[in-house]
Amino acid sequence: MKEFWKNIKLTWKYTKDQKTTLIKYIIVTILNIIVALLIPILSAQLILKLTNNQLYQLIFIGLIIYLVENIYNIISYLSTRYYQIIRRESYTRIQKDLGSNILNLEVETLDKNSSGVFIQRLTRDTEELSIIFNEIIYKLDNLITNISIFLAIFIINKIVFIYLIFMILVLYLIEKRKLKKINVKDKEFREKNERTTGFIGELVRGVRDIKMLNSEDSFMNALKANIKDTNKTRHELQSIYRVYFYISSNIKDLMYCMLLILFILLIKSNKLSGANALIIYNFSERVLSVLYSISSIQKRIKSFNLSCKRIYEVIDSDKFKKENFGTTHLPHINGDFEFKNVHFSYGKEKVLKGINFKVNANETVAFVGKSGAGKTTIFNLLCKMYEPQKGTITIDGKNIKKLDKDTIRGNITIISQNPYIFNMTIRENLNLVKENLTENEMIEACKLACLHDYIMTLPDKYDTAIGEGGVNLSGGQKQRLAIARAFVQKTEIILFDEATSALDNETQAQIQKAIENMKKDYTILIIAHRLSTIINADRILYIEDGIVKSEGTHKELLKNCESYKKLYKSELKNRK
Ligand code: ADP
Repeated sequence: MKEFWKNIKLTWKYTKDQKTTLIKYIIVTILNIIVALLIPILSAQLILKLTNNQLYQLIFIGLIIYLVENIYNIISYLSTRYYQIIRRESYTRIQKDLGSNILNLEVETLDKNSSGVFIQRLTRDTEELSIIFNEIIYKLDNLITNISIFLAIFIINKIVFIYLIFMILVLYLIEKRKLKKINVKDKEFREKNERTTGFIGELVRGVRDIKMLNSEDSFMNALKANIKDTNKTRHELQSIYRVYFYISSNIKDLMYCMLLILFILLIKSNKLSGANALIIYNFSERVLSVLYSISSIQKRIKSFNLSCKRIYEVIDSDKFKKENFGTTHLPHINGDFEFKNVHFSYGKEKVLKGINFKVNANETVAFVGKSGAGKTTIFNLLCKMYEPQKGTITIDGKNIKKLDKDTIRGNITIISQNPYIFNMTIRENLNLVKENLTENEMIEACKLACLHDYIMTLPDKYDTAIGEGGVNLSGGQKQRLAIARAFVQKTEIILFDEATSALDNETQAQIQKAIENMKKDYTILIIAHRLSTIINADRILYIEDGIVKSEGTHKELLKNCESYKKLYKSELKNRK
């Protein structure tokens, strides 16, 4: 219960903005309780009049019941309306908060968790939190109505009342056992469901690669195994419900038979009238629902606590670490930066072992080295996706640890090997980077990125939709669109990870030209997979064994760096 109150306090912040609607909801609910109490009392009267052949009173009560039912329906309509407003608003708020927290997580934490972990929490668990206040009020409404009926029975006959308490106790013990088993299984089910959702997400995202690998069968087998395992747990969870439903229904029926026997005994000994027995019998099902209201509140609380734990784990705990930024904001940066004795490892394996280099503003520097040498890691550290274990990185002479997020990320653009292009039109993709982008700015950026001519050949020009992940564009076109995004964004530092896949000569020449267009105004870092691309770079750093092995222009490196020379020769050979 302590955990529940703590969680309620945390969750209240998402609902408190709809305080007025909540108050209206509570008022309507109280009215509901009062009206709901009248209906069974009037129904019992109706049966009495029927058995006594009192026709006029019967019609009169019938009309009153019709009226009360109508009022009840209006109140229920309002109650559902308020309920839906509160639920919708709370759901949106929780999802927004959780979503922004996920975006703020450390990249390392994201690496460690599958997407399913977040998707399930953003959907099912969020839903659980958003309904808690409404559900509890709704269940309390049921509970209060039924308790009132229970008290009415106490007034009519104490022996029957005691028997009903006994009946409730027996059924309660069965429910309690059921709940205990359900909680354990539910937790297991949610974890497995999370894994399956993540797997399905990957399957959808990687569908093209799966086709190319011709590995549909093995993926389907893995998916089947995942779903089978999740379904097995789901089945076990449902079995618990089924078995306990069977047990409690049987016991309930048996106890009802005993209740009828008790009625006969009491009527025979003149301790209860037939009419009152009829009223109690009419009410008894609702009395028993007191038990189910209590049990369902308990179940809801347990489930709510579990969802809270899973959501607040992401929002506020050490398990899901957030990115940490400094507070210094630089309104403008020149674009020079330095790595001083930087050491970094993802896990145990050391990737960078004391990297030192300096890049001046508006310089174009290329990074060369074997695959896995640590070039992309240098980019990741500069964007503060990861933090070095030792050494310092400075931008404009300031340690990036002290700089705020906008100064770092707002001044660096990465054009990755396979940039993500959103399933929107070209215009919308560019608008994502700058909301108030003018037509001229957009065209200018695409011209500089050598993409404008191609766009003009498309049926809807800039308004052509380019498919999920940019599937309708070639690798080279995607990179040029990413370059256009960089021109729109106008960040001082541009990190360019050249595509590893072979691009045709023309495309490569266009990308080359797009980079040339950037050169004078930006600090550009290029990870080169083909040395021909970077022959004109101001400087080339050769990375090997976690350090900068050599640096200089292309000509200088050919003279001084044996590894670079070898790499260049092997590339020339491959081209022939
Ligand atoms: P390059 O860009 O030079 O090819 P990377 O910087 O991408 O090299 O990788 C350097 C090393 O770090 C490689 O051995 C790679 O397997 C490892 N590595 C890269 N990213 C991660 C990651 N997110 N988690 C663990 N290891 C990684």
